[in-house]
Amino acid sequence: MKVLKFGGTSVGTPERIVDIGKLLLDRHQAGEQMTVVTSAFGGVTDALIKCSDLAASGDKNYLQIAEQIESRHHNTIRSLGLSGDEVVGEITRNFVNFKNLLHGVFLVREASARTMDFLLSFGERNAAPILAAYLSTLGLPARYLDARQIIKTNKEFGRAKVNFSTTEKLIQDRFRGGENFIEIVTGFIATDIGGLTTTLGRGGSDYTAAIIAGALRAEVLEIWTDVDGVLTSNPKIVENAYTIPELSYDEAMELSHFGAKVIYPPTIQPALAESIPIYIKNTFNPSFMGTLISDRIPRGGKGNITGVTGISDITLLTLAGSGLMGIPGSSARLFSALGRAKINIVMITQASSEHSICIAVRSGDTPQAVEVLSEEFQKEMEARLVKPIKTEPGLSLIAVIGEKMKSVPGVSGSLFKALGNNGINVAAIAQGSSELNISVAIKRKDEVKALNLVHDAFFLSESKGLNLFLVGVGLIGGTLLEQIKDQYDTLREDKNLDIHVIGIANSKKMYFHSDGIDLSRWREDLEKSGVPSSFDGYV
Ligand code: ADP
Ligand code: ASP
Ligand code: MG
Repeated sequence: MKVLKFGGTSVGTPERIVDIGKLLLDRHQAGEQMTVVTSAFGGVTDALIKCSDLAASGDKNYLQIAEQIESRHHNTIRSLGLSGDEVVGEITRNFVNFKNLLHGVFLVREASARTMDFLLSFGERNAAPILAAYLSTLGLPARYLDARQIIKTNKEFGRAKVNFSTTEKLIQDRFRGGENFIEIVTGFIATDIGGLTTTLGRGGSDYTAAIIAGALRAEVLEIWTDVDGVLTSNPKIVENAYTIPELSYDEAMELSHFGAKVIYPPTIQPALAESIPIYIKNTFNPSFMGTLISDRIPRGGKGNITGVTGISDITLLTLAGSGLMGIPGSSARLFSALGRAKINIVMITQASSEHSICIAVRSGDTPQAVEVLSEEFQKEMEARLVKPIKTEPGLSLIAVIGEKMKSVPGVSGSLFKALGNNGINVAAIAQGSSELNISVAIKRKDEVKALNLVHDAFFLSESKGLNLFLVGVGLIGGTLLEQIKDQYDTLREDKNLDIHVIGIANSKKMYFHSDGIDLSRWREDLEKSGVPSSFDGYV
């Protein structure tokens, strides 16, 4: 059995669903047994949140958004040639229920976490039946399965914890004897023991697939997404990022915990427990090998680290005071107080002087974290042994991750050099005890620059990029541009210098290209595409 999960963009348009059909048909004809897990159509979960928020705030526009979401589903049904299919009735009924519920939210001006989970469940509950109906028209033995029947959780709405023993049994019972079917399962959603709808956290469809793969002892888990696997950094931020062919489970876990959204962090555990290999593949580029995550420790590859990730919107909290040294168990108290409040600590550092403990939390958790800690250390604060909690908002975390770091000295040196040489200040530092990860907190505004710098410092260390801005492109400036063009290859090969001219200007016009201006035609580009010169604009 193979479990395949398709993310939002992979089912985002009718064309993509047709592509999934082709892929599954090929696999089926090759005799493969499969289970498919699908997310909501791309962007639908966000849209559901938006219209629920509007309804809860008493804004009537919620209805317009709900209707747009509904039309999108009906348009998809039409484009896939399913207008006469019974799935039309199912989707229509879903939207009647959904809109009734929203009306209730609008009237009471409130959507609790429990209500939100129910509202969000419609994303997957619409996508999966449409996918199943389409696959059936191709002659595949597909049938729709609502995961709420097989995945049981506690009542932590919004990010419910799975009850594995009950869930495993339910999955095994449900799949027994159904080997000839391809179940098309809703990702992300589940129910508590009493039957209330819960969700597994944003991005949770990956987890659904892993839970099913684990329970069925699947031979492989394939996560189909919109990029070529797990890359050395987020390709939407770091242009030079490239695919990592192989990762260990531990590395994948670190990368996902520290911001690589391509895998939802809890996904790794059920696969690891049964040694099930995970492939991350690109629906837009299906023949590309992607990334394999398994219990093998990858060897080789470029650089001393495996990847660079970032988490935006972090706040540092510092608990400090001369009295801290004398208070036994103060770190333990800090962690348990935050743990009881279910606040996730993203990073911890403590200087050896023990005068202060510094932790990083997501900015949204800051007010609650400050409250909880002020309460916990109230007595010490009143006695002036501990200072009020200091907060430093507006930060991001950058982490470099990899198994190879353990045996290679100087990784942190290279990290700090890359940041320091480029004027990026480090607010806090931590190294995981597993030595798989070094993380630093920096200003949020520096995040994109830092990710690119650190990425290139580790992975493209052979060459150094130089971005050039030139004002004055007359006889002298123009000749300089010609020389740079003629010398480009030599500079790159012999001097490891990769020069890109990003901006040029004369007194009339200025022209920019973030990837580098084509120096064989800069005069035409400046003339035709340039904008009127201004000092402020250029700066
Ligand atoms: P899906 O809808 O398929 O679940 P997601 O949006 O959840 O897809 O995850 C894929 C996205 O993860 C990519 O488009 C990419 O922007 C982001 N991402 C962040 N870090 C990485 C990384 N290291 N490698 C690959 N993708 C990453
Ligand atoms: N649809 C859910 C979300 O957008 C789950 C997922 O896509 O994995 O978070
Ligand atoms: Mg995802």
